[in-house]
Amino acid sequence: MPLIIVTGLPTSGKTTRAKQLYSFLEERIQAPPPSSTTSPTTTTSTTPKYRLHLISDQTLSIPRSVYDLSATPAHVRSANASEKDARASIYGAVKRALSDRDIVILDGLNYIKGWRYQLFCESKAVRTPSCVLQIGCDRERARGVNEGRLGKRDTASASNGDGEGGDKVGKEDGSGDGDVEGPYEPENWENLVFRYEEPNPMTRWDSPLFTLIWEDDEARAKQVFESMWDTIAGEARKVVRPNQATVQRSRDAGGDYLYILDKETQEVVKKILDQQSDDGGDDIRLPRGGGSDGDDLVVELPAGKKVGLPQLQRLRRAYMGLHRGGIGLEGVGNMGPERIRETFVGYLNDAFENDG
Ligand code: ADP
Ligand code: MG
Repeated sequence: MPLIIVTGLPTSGKTTRAKQLYSFLEERIQAPPPSSTTSPTTTTSTTPKYRLHLISDQTLSIPRSVYDLSATPAHVRSANASEKDARASIYGAVKRALSDRDIVILDGLNYIKGWRYQLFCESKAVRTPSCVLQIGCDRERARGVNEGRLGKRDTASASNGDGEGGDKVGKEDGSGDGDVEGPYEPENWENLVFRYEEPNPMTRWDSPLFTLIWEDDEARAKQVFESMWDTIAGEARKVVRPNQATVQRSRDAGGDYLYILDKETQEVVKKILDQQSDDGGDDIRLPRGGGSDGDDLVVELPAGKKVGLPQLQRLRRAYMGLHRGGIGLEGVGNMGPERIRETFVGYLNDAFENDG
């Protein structure tokens, strides 16, 4: 199934649900229900089909303070280095664990849509499905939980006089006691809520989207976990085709890069409009350009209708939004023109495929 991205407001109950999901899957992997028909290729083996991983800020010892912008001057906030480093190490951990045989539960804020998109591309690249589990919790309650933790911390540091402790990272001891985790500083908490980008089930990278709210009881949680299992690990799960290229983002995009990004995507849109026939369903071939002698890029248009300029522009803008840069992943430079063309074509093909 492989990648499950947990998302939600700070202190909204994400870790609690992630642990419940972990236990559920642990059992599910060991003992598939009797009704499930095993495919002929797997009947010989008794080893479980999946390995299970839980990755979170806590398992990677990332403190809450990396999300804190209050110490960062406003003009460099988008480049908050500590958060970028944290993202790079989370990304690395996911990448190392993720495969078609490894289920990764990523417990964390995962509040940036471009970041979720990046993770979606990563799992697509290893041909394994991904999904998002959103933890719904009203703001007041989540704030209350954080305040409770702040209160506890203050009492604790007053009584044993160690004076610090704000960034203490809870031990991942599986005891299920969420309160070993440190609180967020109030301003940091408010800011994260403000910055939170709700998942949108209409986008490919936020779907399928599952939701659990605070009040959901064990039975309800189990139901949701079951349907997650069915859609992405069960027999009915969809085949995942990798993009022609896994998408990489640019770091701190400069003016030139934005110009090239705009120009190259415009060019692709123009070629599609020029070359498509009235009946739709064409394969539009585009040279990779830049002197590279690989195969042409192919845009597979949806059958039965022409694709209009407004639709293409909308997709182009969405693509540009995701590739403008700024979330700072390890080892990614600006994409060159060929790479832009390639990833944009991959993006369009995905969009058309999911449309039809
Ligand atoms: P997050 O990982 O989002 O910061 P946690 O899972 O650590 O949040 O939960 C914060 C606190 O709220 C913990 O003390 C936890 O026990 C409690 N909690 C979380 N979800 C629920 C729930 N659905 N019902 C009751 N208490 C909950
Ligand atoms: Mg947590």
